[in-house]
Amino acid sequence: MRKILVLGNWKMNGCRQSVSDLLSDLVRRFKPSVGVELAVFPPYPYLYQVQTALAATGISWGSQSASETLAGAYTGETSMAMVADFGATYVLLGHSERRMLFGETDAIVAKRFKVALEHGLKPVLCVGETLQQRESGTTLATVCQQLQSVIDLVGTGAVARGVLAYEPVWAIGTGLTATPQQAQDVHQAMRRQLAATDSKAAATLQILYGGSVTDANAYDLFNQPDIDGALVGSASLKADTFLAISRSAAIIQ
Ligand code: PEP
Repeated sequence: MRKILVLGNWKMNGCRQSVSDLLSDLVRRFKPSVGVELAVFPPYPYLYQVQTALAATGISWGSQSASETLAGAYTGETSMAMVADFGATYVLLGHSERRMLFGETDAIVAKRFKVALEHGLKPVLCVGETLQQRESGTTLATVCQQLQSVIDLVGTGAVARGVLAYEPVWAIGTGLTATPQQAQDVHQAMRRQLAATDSKAAATLQILYGGSVTDANAYDLFNQPDIDGALVGSASLKADTFLAISRSAAIIQ
């Protein structure tokens, strides 16, 4: 049985005080449930605050990105080793904002996935189609190609050591959510793609949905057979909505 994973991507939001308030709220109200795991992804400057507040609480953390280069003269970059040094469990890779605004190609994302695994991190590989791609009927071709470029570099078994997140670009931060069936169709197609080379890996890999997930739509999404949790953006900035989403997961488990 796959655990349900609820991940909170804080993006470039917060300050020391708001991060401290959010963390205290989370720690005070969080009640662990069997089969459900939570993690948050703060901006880099707040990783230490997060590590300090969440150690031994059962809530994990990760970074929103990290470089494929190991160390040295790469001004502005943060390495996987540095992120791991903070006790992070996860690193987000290939978020559509990184792909569109910062030029992350499939090749870069695949290399980062490999380096993350080599540093003991769990990469969360984000894939998703634009509205134009959905309307032109190329959704599955787009996401399967994004996934395939990682499979080609590391193999299907290694992909299953990470997490996959389907995030339709048109649903991120727009209030438009894919219907549970639309999301299920894409998740099922990706699981079949993995099963073609490694059925065990395909059966164990957690595939999350992301795109305007709230406490109002989480239950119906989590109720789909191939949806194993959510990558949550704006609704993760408040402890009450984030924890309400995780409670929907707990009902399903
Ligand atoms: C995201 O940033 O990955 C995301 C899904 O954002 P939102 O939940 O705000 O759509």
